[in-house]
Amino acid sequence: MNLKIGVIKGDGIGPEIVTEAVKVLDKISEIYGHTCDYTQLLMGGASIDVHGVPLTDDTVAEAKNCDAVLMGSIGGDAKTSPWYQLEPSKRPEAGLLRIRKELNLFANLRPAVLYDELKGACPLKEEITAGGFDMMIMRELTGGLYFGERKTVSEDGVMTAYDSLTYNENEIRRIARRGFDIAMKRRKKVTSVDKANVLDSSRLWRKVVEEVAADYPEVTLEHMLVDNCAMQLVKDPKQFDVILTENMFGDILSDEASMVTGSIGMLASASLNETKFGLYEPSGGSAPDIAGKGIANPIATILSAAMMLKFSFDLDKEADAIERAVAKVLEEGYRTIDIMSDGKEQVGTEKMGDLIAGYIE
Ligand code: NAD
Repeated sequence: MNLKIGVIKGDGIGPEIVTEAVKVLDKISEIYGHTCDYTQLLMGGASIDVHGVPLTDDTVAEAKNCDAVLMGSIGGDAKTSPWYQLEPSKRPEAGLLRIRKELNLFANLRPAVLYDELKGACPLKEEITAGGFDMMIMRELTGGLYFGERKTVSEDGVMTAYDSLTYNENEIRRIARRGFDIAMKRRKKVTSVDKANVLDSSRLWRKVVEEVAADYPEVTLEHMLVDNCAMQLVKDPKQFDVILTENMFGDILSDEASMVTGSIGMLASASLNETKFGLYEPSGGSAPDIAGKGIANPIATILSAAMMLKFSFDLDKEADAIERAVAKVLEEGYRTIDIMSDGKEQVGTEKMGDLIAGYIE
């Protein structure tokens, strides 16, 4: 298969971690007989330096021409970088917001996986984390409270603020379908999270999710109220496979879930649209404090590349091979500085990439 992949190395540690993910993709191509056709795209500070803006129309068009985009991270140190002297619409982050909008990326996926070998980094008790856990948080990204009408007005001399939470059935249906599709590739369980005991938008959410579930008889659906879900994530995280939820609930729950896994350097993510297209990136930022030192953890980016193979190219076997190789390096005791613990061997970014590529079977 020929994979047409846009590559945004970005800023800070971006180029270092993306280089390792590309190394692993090349190894996959070699072993499984694919070809990767990479298009280098500039975004963020790297684009400002060349074009004066964080994202050009040409780059958007080139990204749309690819099957998927793999990204490092963008941005710099807001206190010292000249990029932050520019007006907000010209700063690095504006490029990211624009590309998400241009590509209509409405579904955000964040896996939260606790590897047994890294359970020391997890703040939960050992009896809760024994054996690790593996869940996927699927968050609606372009609707709900963050995109509703808002205003602050004075009413009878009292300042009053309004934010509106709106979802229509089509917005719910398309994310629900995505959630069930992804559950079909996993352990076939969807936990739909809402606040249906209070909110109309949640009652519609629940109704539409149930309609969609009827098309996926193999998937078990359960509904959970968001306050209960926040508790269950720390009480019994193993119960979850796919958590499907709206924008604000997903924002909060995905951060909670990622905290219980330990390091930011391990957290992959994907943003998808209605086609197979997706933007794949680590959950962390450009880490200017460690950029150029060769010590950043490339695993989140490598696991993001695995998600790309699975969700944009349906190459499940190849994605599993990457996930197994990551598990293997951890089992063998190799660690980057952010996940280092006593008795393990510390390695840099490049060596970690070499080891994972070497374990691909
Ligand atoms: P950050 O995630 O870059 O860094 C937070 C801490 O985590 C730092 O100590 C950093 O060294 C560490 N860290 C992050 N990734 C790591 C990795 N792979 N390996 C080892 N350690 C890692 O967050 P920040 O400092 O708040 O933001 C820095 C810049 O990144 C800002 O310009 C911000 O806007 C940008 N940012 C970009 C994205 C994105 O590109 N999607 C996301 C978040 C932040």
